[in-house]
Amino acid sequence: MSDVMLGMPTTPPPVLSERRKTRQLQVGSVGVGSDSPVSVQSMTTTVTADINATLQQIAELTAAGCDIVRVACPSQDDADALSAIARKSQIPVIADIHFQPKYVFAAIEAGCAAVRVNPGNIRKFDDQVKEIAQAAKDHGTPIRIGVNAGSLDKRLMEKYGKATPEALAESALWEASLFAEHDFHDIKISVKHNDPVVMVRAYELLAAQCDYPLHLGVTEAGPAFQGTIKSAVAFGALLRQGIGDTIRVSLSAPPVEEVKVGLQILQSLNLRPRKLEIVSCPSCGRAQVDVYKLADQVTAGLEGMSVPLRVAVMGCVVNGPGEAREADLGVASGNGKGQIFVKGQVVKTVPEAQIVETLIEEAMRLAEEMGEPVDGESGAPTVVAVG
Ligand code: SF4
Repeated sequence: MSDVMLGMPTTPPPVLSERRKTRQLQVGSVGVGSDSPVSVQSMTTTVTADINATLQQIAELTAAGCDIVRVACPSQDDADALSAIARKSQIPVIADIHFQPKYVFAAIEAGCAAVRVNPGNIRKFDDQVKEIAQAAKDHGTPIRIGVNAGSLDKRLMEKYGKATPEALAESALWEASLFAEHDFHDIKISVKHNDPVVMVRAYELLAAQCDYPLHLGVTEAGPAFQGTIKSAVAFGALLRQGIGDTIRVSLSAPPVEEVKVGLQILQSLNLRPRKLEIVSCPSCGRAQVDVYKLADQVTAGLEGMSVPLRVAVMGCVVNGPGEAREADLGVASGNGKGQIFVKGQVVKTVPEAQIVETLIEEAMRLAEEMGEPVDGESGAPTVVAVG
């Protein structure tokens, strides 16, 4: 099969828009800004002071494809753990600081790749901006100004009455101006709200008024199903305009799930190379096999595969052969049999009971020919519904 092009693109896939031009930052080894790919972040849920548990979770996030990780730092014990965590983590670590300026200095000293501060919770910071800017400059540590609707600066709450898009953007820009007064510009901004409409508008306002890189997030987006949808629509609306340099999907679910969703959003918009895609039909009254079961079994069998392979799982002969032909690999089922397609050619016909194992075998073979490890590190394959 080496003479066929197995889904390897010859030109970069199209994107919906050019990135908004921003300043460029370096968060540890990861470039952030319009000259770098949009990166995926998540946040650990462990007690940061539990160094082993935190590093274990960071390792899981790294394996899932996370680019940058944030850790909470609410106590001195957590601050004391930052140095070991930053040193041993394979991906850049951002310390998340509220209320206590001394932890900002501790995080910078500890070698964290960046520090996140929340203008609503840093009243005490404002008279220390000069020192923070100096320490961050000395260590080359970027600062993320992370405004959150739930902790909006009291002054702006009084001015606007609630966390409006204007209030969120003004809070962030005001804080950024305090750093800019001290000639510090290594800044990334987020203005999170749980309502995608408010959040999108806030980022649009921000994007029009500054050239800092922006970190996108719908905060407190909810459990996995709701949070995935809210994040996907909000990020999609912004990325469509080229707005967004890092993203975090906030879910009431294990952080690895956040990374999978974030990567999937970026892959869907061609902002990341697409990996394995399962193209499966929704089934209907014409189905001649149990499509759900077949799609689930193929998905489970190929979990973790990282090659850009499209595998079509179709329930009948109406759209089956067409979709199966368009994919790198596919099956069109009917009459108790499955026709197996590789790049548009029927390579074999197998009994229904052998469809799953045959597809998995063929997928593994193609993956190896594509030169990528079969047990790649990018998480589960995607499922695309057609029909
Ligand atoms: S391929 Fe289309 S027509 Fe055939 S079973 Fe699936 S949904 Fe129905």
